[in-house]
Order: sequence, then C-alpha cells, then structure tokens
Amino acid sequence: MRLKLSVLTTILCCIVIAKEAETVGIFSGPQEFCYTDMECGPDSDKWDGFCHSGKRQSPINLKVPYHSPSRYTHLLPLDRFQADHFFIQNNGHTINVDMTPVGENSQFFPGHGLSFTKYKFSNVHFHWGASNSEGSEHQLNSRNFSAEMHLTLRDAINSGDPNALAVVAIFLQVDDSVGPSPALAPLVNAIDQIREPHTHWMKVETPIDLSPLIPMRHDATVYSYQGSLTTPPCNSQVNWYVFGEPVPIWSSDVSAFRGVMDGRDAPLENNRRPVQPMSDRRIEIIKFV
Ligand SMILES: [Zn+2]
Repeated sequence: MRLKLSVLTTILCCIVIAKEAETVGIFSGPQEFCYTDMECGPDSDKWDGFCHSGKRQSPINLKVPYHSPSRYTHLLPLDRFQADHFFIQNNGHTINVDMTPVGENSQFFPGHGLSFTKYKFSNVHFHWGASNSEGSEHQLNSRNFSAEMHLTLRDAINSGDPNALAVVAIFLQVDDSVGPSPALAPLVNAIDQIREPHTHWMKVETPIDLSPLIPMRHDATVYSYQGSLTTPPCNSQVNWYVFGEPVPIWSSDVSAFRGVMDGRDAPLENNRRPVQPMSDRRIEIIKFV
C-alpha cells in the first residue's frame, strides 16, 4: 500500500494527492522538469514517463465541432468545494491547495453523472501566464485564457483504474470590472508565506469557498475528453471536464500568483504545458439538467 501511495503521489497532475507529497523532493526525480528553459522544458528528457510517448496527452486545443455528441447529467455539487481551513504549498511548479470539505461524506460525489461516483475531491492548483493574454493550458477553439484552475478528483477506491483521475478545468480570464475575488482571497492572502518553493504544506486557518469560481449553471457547457496529466510522467489516466465559459478574474489576483518563485530562482509564471495532438480522440459535450 505504501508503494502504491508513493507511485500515486508522483503521477498526479502537478503535485498532488495531499500531504503524502511532502515526501517528494521538489528538485529530485520526475519533478526536475520546468516549463520555459530548454534543458528542462516540455521538449527535454526531464519530461519523462509518457510525456513523449503517450497517445492521449493533455492539454489540447478544444476545437469543438458543431455536431459533437452530447449527454446530460446533474449539476456538480458545489458545496463539495468549501472547507473551514486549507493547506497551501508552492511546489516550484504551481500553487497547490489541499482542502478537506466540511463533513467526511461530502468528499464523495455519489451517483453523479460525470462518473464521479467513486471520486472524491483531492486538491486544486493553477496554471497562469506571464501576461493576461496567456496562461491557460487548454485552448478553446485556439483561444488562450489568463489562467486555468484544475480541481483534481481522485479515485477513492482503485488508483490503478485507467480512469483513476478526473480533473475539472476552469478558464479564468482577466476582467478588471469584477474586482478582487472573495473566493481567491484566502489564497492570495497566504501567498507571501509560500513565496519560496518548498515541499512543506502550510496550514491556513481560514474558511475557503471555491464555488464562485465554478460556472455551474443549468445552461453551462462542459467539454469532456480522455487525456493525461499535464506534468511528468504524463500518465494517460485522466477524464477531463473543461468548462467552456471563462470566469472573470481581477488582474491583481493573477499578479499575486506571479509573485511566487519557481525552483530556479525565477518568478513562477507560464507554468503550462503546450497543447498536444488531438489524434483520433473525440470531444463530448456535457450539458446539465
Ligand atoms: Zn494542472
């Protein structure tokens, strides 16, 4: 079981599953990768595992055809994304937040049509750019957004399942008409304390509610496809659910993200993998009832 946990810890998107990640060094093994330098960027051998050989890689440019197949399901339970405290970490690649929703049972997604029956919320992390015109990992019809939030859900029962992970992705687009985000405030206020990269998680005794950042409405559209982790070792085991509607975000909130440092003594920004070939995969459109 320990071995299983250790392997799982190294494969989850960007970090992961929780405080088990404390045992993984920032600058050792598969985590030596970076985003912008030749010697450790996405084309280098630091992106090992399945990054160069995998067939269903992420992110992708979501070119949504007019006649995509669609299916209907129930709304995401937004109360699953609230907690009375959280843990935060700068692991040199992203700002990673681990939160345990109030009430043990509320971690699960019972009977949910997004195949979340056996998944539970694991963590949230972000990808952002050096400027407001870029930063998302996925593209929607070739458009980039200022940032992208990943809500990672992991298989609560069988981590060896090929569909062991689900990631809900939400585009964040700078729009200064909205002002500071109360949902992001607990994170932004804690950033000073995680400016330097570290494996340690810092406990923040502040309630957090990410639901305002999730554009969950009856008329929302979500694009789903089979993909991979977007960080080494890029395992192809992720069911992606990408909300089509970007959420407006204050520019200073994104700027705060740019204030943390990566593992190479430089500001952490452009922490996004380039889009990968679509190959013969299909994009499914999910609508809500
Ligand atoms: Zn991610």
